[in-house]
Amino acid sequence: MPRFEEARQLILEHIAPLGIEKVILTEADNRVLAEDILAPWDMPRWTNSAMDGYAVRSQDCRQPSVLRVTGFLPAGARSVEEVAPGCAIKIMTGAPLPPGADAVVPVEETEASADGVRIINPVAQNAHVRFMGEDVRCGECILPRGSLLRPAEIGMLASYGKVFVPVFRRARIAILATGDELAELGEVFSEDKIINSNTLALHAAIKEIGGIPDILGIALDTREDHLEKLTEGLKADALITSAGVSTGDRDFVRPVLEELGARNLFCKVDIKPGRPTSFAVRDGKPIFSLPGNPVSTMITFEELVRPALLKMMGHTRIIKPLFEATLTTNLDKKRLGVLNFQRVSVELRDGRYFASCAGDQNTGILKTMVRADALALLPEDKDRFAAGETVRIHFLSHQATMLEG
Ligand code: AMP
Ligand code: MG
Repeated sequence: MPRFEEARQLILEHIAPLGIEKVILTEADNRVLAEDILAPWDMPRWTNSAMDGYAVRSQDCRQPSVLRVTGFLPAGARSVEEVAPGCAIKIMTGAPLPPGADAVVPVEETEASADGVRIINPVAQNAHVRFMGEDVRCGECILPRGSLLRPAEIGMLASYGKVFVPVFRRARIAILATGDELAELGEVFSEDKIINSNTLALHAAIKEIGGIPDILGIALDTREDHLEKLTEGLKADALITSAGVSTGDRDFVRPVLEELGARNLFCKVDIKPGRPTSFAVRDGKPIFSLPGNPVSTMITFEELVRPALLKMMGHTRIIKPLFEATLTTNLDKKRLGVLNFQRVSVELRDGRYFASCAGDQNTGILKTMVRADALALLPEDKDRFAAGETVRIHFLSHQATMLEG
């Protein structure tokens, strides 16, 4: 039975990024760039003014002086007129520096005078000038393949006129719940049923990372229904099932996947919760079979499935960072000698994280999952963690890193 990191590594070794598509820039945010982008021109494209002021010859301004103003250059204008000795051209931010000028004097450092403009302080050569290519040189790689397209990257691509950009395809992920006890959300159901909440939680988790969830419904606890629905699920880029994965009389997920030719890579992981998680591949397609308890489903998705889906969609930062937090309550292992993921609430005080037990750690208790900001990873070699000790945590969502101070 693999340990947590081994299982995660084994999964990742069987995952390759999906294909590439071109999308319009307004739809490219949060996608992952699939090719290196080289600058098609220098940025800035021309040497220009960094301030509203006067384009001058610095040698004319060694001491306080009055210069004759011979022209005006707004942003967007092209200058042909030269700045002659003893003269200045009024210039706005971004306008190209006129020939002859080698500095800009901000308007705040000048005074109007009857004969022109008075320059109060000495002016250094190149002052307030932005040089052609000082940001980016033509041909330079501005964004490498694998870049996450945040507002900054979108702005960079837009500044080079990229209307369409190559990005990795979003993964279509089939979600199949299994179990006769389940009723669909919104359906009229009898009292002995429970609502299929796992599918909705997985749907949200897949959307959160930019995947396209594809709900397959519920497979009844029969071989035939599993065969039909799992076959359908294998048409997606990846398949996630919940429940029916142990070795109970009515656990059909694993035998039917085997019948369908899936190669099983592991059927248990040495973690708590989530021990009965299994992973298989068929024709290169990953199949994650998660345990059915809602908390186990969510935690195994976060810890084992999420990195794989991120890799499929071209992300390079796929493993959650571990943060250190000081415990403010004790944490006791639910299963000794095994890596435990425990639900903790996290507070940020003076720039440091403090974690406390979010409540009952039983996998049947969903309320504790709702209260949790993070999972504490309690390592194999220690079973009791006392208040004051440091533990390592994985935050559960992006929002959780924006804790109130
Ligand atoms: P199993 O893995 O089939 O033994 O299921 C474990 C537990 O998870 C059972 O109590 C199920 O009722 C519950 N469960 C299974 N599937 C779902 C689901 N889709 N939504 C909510 N709870 C579920
Ligand atoms: Mg079941």
